Amino acid sequence: MTLTQKDIVKPMKIEKQRILVCGAGGFIGGHLVKNLLACGAAEIRAVDIKPLDDWYQVHPGIENLTFDLKDKQNCYRAVEGTSAVFQLAADMGGMGFIENNRALCMLSVLINTHMLMAASDVGVQRFLYASSACVYNGEKQVSADVVPLKEEDAYPALPEDGYGWEKLFSERMCRHFEEDFRLQCRVARFHNVYGPHGTWDGGREKAPAAICRKVLEAKLSGNHQIEIWGDGHQTRSFMYIDDCIRGVKSIFESDIHEPINLGSSELVTINQLVDLVEEIADIKLERTYNLHAPRGVNGRNSDNTKIRQYLGWEPSIRLRDGMAKTYAWIEKQMLMRSEQWVA
Ligand code: NAD
Repeated sequence: MTLTQKDIVKPMKIEKQRILVCGAGGFIGGHLVKNLLACGAAEIRAVDIKPLDDWYQVHPGIENLTFDLKDKQNCYRAVEGTSAVFQLAADMGGMGFIENNRALCMLSVLINTHMLMAASDVGVQRFLYASSACVYNGEKQVSADVVPLKEEDAYPALPEDGYGWEKLFSERMCRHFEEDFRLQCRVARFHNVYGPHGTWDGGREKAPAAICRKVLEAKLSGNHQIEIWGDGHQTRSFMYIDDCIRGVKSIFESDIHEPINLGSSELVTINQLVDLVEEIADIKLERTYNLHAPRGVNGRNSDNTKIRQYLGWEPSIRLRDGMAKTYAWIEKQMLMRSEQWVA
């Protein structure tokens, strides 16, 4: 039987829940809390390992707590009294980080294990887990000329080493916690998300933010060159943060028990992404290609058939528009930082 949108969407209003957002000091978590507050959620607890000063967004009027969620007791403290959990906390970053920190990435399994145990023990009603397109079998991503990845392409398992294995294992834990302990789990497989209020320097940034920063550095310094990781022909899709938040909430409220793609299907090469940022910045740079830098798979795109069919979700923000907003925000951060240096 084919499920329809009507079968899948259950009226579980998130805003009525007592909500825990793990990883709220990070990029997606910060935007999620902002959106939930704007939609009228009254009871939100936001948790991150970072001190509050380092959060991308701190929203007043809610509980903002600093906890290391690898620690089991902290997970029990975090879930106490909550009914809805968004588990976004992970030690992660772009390709440069995940290819060089495989063990650290795998240690996020402690967060996921302890959060699932705590949520299940205290009777949380629903648990959303932020998985990743890095769970997909690498052999299906060897060509830049991609066939979009369907949910079933995660098996047979050959995910991204380290980070992807941890995500796939934790997805699997969600499935078994639901089967054996009746914890209602939802799993969103995010494909590259970008936008303001995220990591843009320091080694954990992803391609869209890194390219904006590099173009800005070239523009501000007058040295009109840019280094691109790989040969620039790798293909990817990028989802703007507002589309991501809308999708996360729909998946949370739905009755979809299997992992589901949440990503854009607007495919671009890294060279095209650089073209786009150059256009926004009104500059042309001389490109060099670093073939030894981490570059990830050759091609990846999201097959959105399921999410379109089940939830009617489609990305609404074109890459050009989302990148213009991201570029403007990073420019502001860079200018603020240089003013601090001068002062
Ligand atoms: P992010 O790094 O900005 O946010 C993750 C947050 O988790 C960080 O603020 C970090 O401090 C926190 N954290 C790490 N270890 C912790 C711990 N032990 N205890 C408490 N908090 C801890 O990343 P993001 O882009 O907001 O990603 C959110 C989630 O989505 C992550 O699980 C990530 O793996 C997943 N994801 C993101 C993308 C993307 O493109 N941004 C793609 C696929 C999957």
